[in-house]
Amino acid sequence: MIDLCFLGTGGSIPMPDRALASLYIRVGGKAILLDCGEGTQIGIMRLGWGFRCIDALLLTHFHADHCSGVPGFLLAMAKAGRTEPLDIYGPVGLTQVISGLRVIAPQLPYPLRLHELSRERSNFSAIGLQITAFPLNHGIPCLGYFFSLHRLPAFDPEKARSLHVPLPLWKVLQHGESVEVGGRTVLPEEVRKEERKGLSFLYATDTRPVPDITELGKNCDLMILEGMYGDDDKLPQAHKNHHMLFRESAALASQAQPGELILTHFSTSLEGPEAYLPQALAVFPHTRCATDGMCLTLRFPER
Ligand SMILES: [Zn+2]
Ligand SMILES: [Zn+2]
Repeated sequence: MIDLCFLGTGGSIPMPDRALASLYIRVGGKAILLDCGEGTQIGIMRLGWGFRCIDALLLTHFHADHCSGVPGFLLAMAKAGRTEPLDIYGPVGLTQVISGLRVIAPQLPYPLRLHELSRERSNFSAIGLQITAFPLNHGIPCLGYFFSLHRLPAFDPEKARSLHVPLPLWKVLQHGESVEVGGRTVLPEEVRKEERKGLSFLYATDTRPVPDITELGKNCDLMILEGMYGDDDKLPQAHKNHHMLFRESAALASQAQPGELILTHFSTSLEGPEAYLPQALAVFPHTRCATDGMCLTLRFPER
């Protein structure tokens, strides 16, 4: 399963009751932080899932609302006692931006490993998630991220017992490796059942609509897109600033048919984002607005 928490849901400027958009992603006790605007560390503290367990920081782009919280975050990780390396992923310019931000956080008890991602799609993995970074259309290099969690095939314990496979070796077989039992090789396919669908979700804010969002996010469990502007009269502004309306995000979801669409990254001009939700619901009914501190869990279906 995958735990997600929206640490903040604001765009551009933090507000007294709306922190800047950032997502905490947790799988099996390890975590990824996605974007780190000013004050993101406060949201992490409030959540209580921890700093030390964060193995990777993923940045979408280098507008201040997505990265100005990095020095404070790095220092909070140090204070929490992290000594293991931290991987930081981001678009072209990452090395320069992080070295600039590091001027005010020069001493860290753990190494940083920077991964500057190209303008094309790129694949990597962290905390057991397969991740695809893909280019967005925001006027400057900006990335969306698609995450998937593989699920092992179901295991047939009856079959394993009948083949006299000792219990400690069941996991080895389920992970796809053969084992030796009483001089005979037992193959994974003898005890593994059918393949099972994993979990996947997509995150893309700060962009005009791009085909990669619907291609990668096709039938995923969850899409997280931006709700920067509400009304249609904001369309010229959305074009000018490379953002999307509620309705435009919902249209992408309608094409890709995820299990659910959650909107975040709301403009400061939207006092209550919920008021604009009907515009998205008219296009894609399984839509809701994120709120600061909102958590949810993506679970494998029973079978
Ligand atoms: Zn932004
Ligand atoms: Zn931006």
